[in-house]
Amino acid sequence: MARIVIIGAGVGGVPAALEMKHHARKEDEVMVISDYPTFHFTPSNPWVGFGWRKPDQIKVALAPMFKKRKITFVQQAVAKVHPKENRLEMKDGTSVNYDYLILATGPRLAFDEIPGLGPHGGFTKSVCHVDHAAETFEAWEKFCEAPGPMIVGAAQGASCFGPAYEYLLQADTDLRRRKMRDKVPITYVTSEPYIGHLGLGGVGDSKGMMEGMLRDRTVRWICNAKIQKVEDGKMTVMECDEEGKDKKVHELPFKISMVLPAFTGVDAVRGIEGLTNPRGFILINDKQQNPAFPNIYGVGVCVAIAPKEPTPVPTGIPKTGIMIEAMAVAAAHNIRAQLDGGKPDKVPEWNALCVADTGDGNSMGFIAIPQIPPRNVTIAKKGLMLHWGKIIFEKYFLRKIRTGVAAPFYEKIGLGMMGYRTLKK
Ligand SMILES: Cc1cc2nc3c(=O)[nH]c(=O)nc-3n(C[C@H](O)[C@H](O)[C@H](O)COP(=O)(O)OP(=O)(O)OC[C@H]3O[C@@H](n4cnc5c(N)ncnc54)[C@H](O)[C@@H]3O)c2cc1C
Repeated sequence: MARIVIIGAGVGGVPAALEMKHHARKEDEVMVISDYPTFHFTPSNPWVGFGWRKPDQIKVALAPMFKKRKITFVQQAVAKVHPKENRLEMKDGTSVNYDYLILATGPRLAFDEIPGLGPHGGFTKSVCHVDHAAETFEAWEKFCEAPGPMIVGAAQGASCFGPAYEYLLQADTDLRRRKMRDKVPITYVTSEPYIGHLGLGGVGDSKGMMEGMLRDRTVRWICNAKIQKVEDGKMTVMECDEEGKDKKVHELPFKISMVLPAFTGVDAVRGIEGLTNPRGFILINDKQQNPAFPNIYGVGVCVAIAPKEPTPVPTGIPKTGIMIEAMAVAAAHNIRAQLDGGKPDKVPEWNALCVADTGDGNSMGFIAIPQIPPRNVTIAKKGLMLHWGKIIFEKYFLRKIRTGVAAPFYEKIGLGMMGYRTLKK
């Protein structure tokens, strides 16, 4: 009998647990440890920020679902991973031992790297967590009573740009519906070298399409931006040149601002030699396995992926839902191979499929296969279908988590047809 522990119960952790249960032997124990009692569907957070979703609509209680699937659930934070001892030190001082470990902790939100950034004592809002998004909605309602300039952005070192565009475009849609867009000058501040770069070196004509979209919506932008500090109502931004050297300081007034921070790995794994890189991301090989500790796997935003080409201001590569699910499937499959005395052999496909929903008929979607160029497939499209596509994705994913089924038959058929070999069981 082996104990396989998964830390984290988000977009990566829950599918990893369900997959692991599916692949494990009858006698093995699959255990999930997470510091939060519910799963929440992060891609819907921007909608929560505008009151288009209530937080409860995108949450799923974890304990009953895992009980039904005979997966042990422990609701507590892991304080430190001790990989040489195969042991987890828990927040309450107790220990949990494991035979195999899947790290799916998502990111630490590094608001603290910029003075005044973020919702915890800073002056900018966030949609990175559902609780942040709910607070952002409260602030938005107040802002709409006394509007003024708005800044949306992605900080230096950020690796997640889609949600920044999404929030920006949804703000524009919401303000137009309220007939008050004329009272809100919007500036987009980004570490990307150009609009539509997305941390991916662009996808098809994402540059042209997204620049056009921002121009149509009279949004000003600053690229190659480093946010120096945020004060109450003022953001200081250094615009850099193509070499990353300081070019121009902008002092931007704002009445509301939402900025995505850089990510790092979580404290429980930071500084462990062989397990993580200097930013705390889990080092993995092409099979999601840590080279120094072969009984540890990484899945989701917590894994280290080196940028393909450096940008003048640092940006990271995004890790999106479908790619994260492929990582979860591969990790579970490879652990089973090890349990059987074999070698891990499943290599997940890292493809990007993202939709930036505008909340109206102009949503944008991008497909990059593989995620890192050069690519076999690059598609960038705009239209109402993509808005509905995102809603269907949300309903489908939440249903999958509520029922606790690792691979519903319609997923196998659909993804199989799309050529996702790693997701087919
Ligand atoms: C606002 C936003 C919108 C996004 N929209 C999309 C989208 O539309 N499409 C798309 O494909 N991708 C999207 N992404 C990217 C990606 O899909 C999400 O970030 C996704 O949530 C990542 O999943 P994850 O499991 O790696 O991390 P998370 O979902 O963050 O889950 C991490 C889990 O680990 C737990 N945890 C962390 N540390 C500990 C600890 N020490 N002990 C115990 N538990 C711990 C957390 O509580 C959480 O449950 C979006 C990301 C953001 C931030």
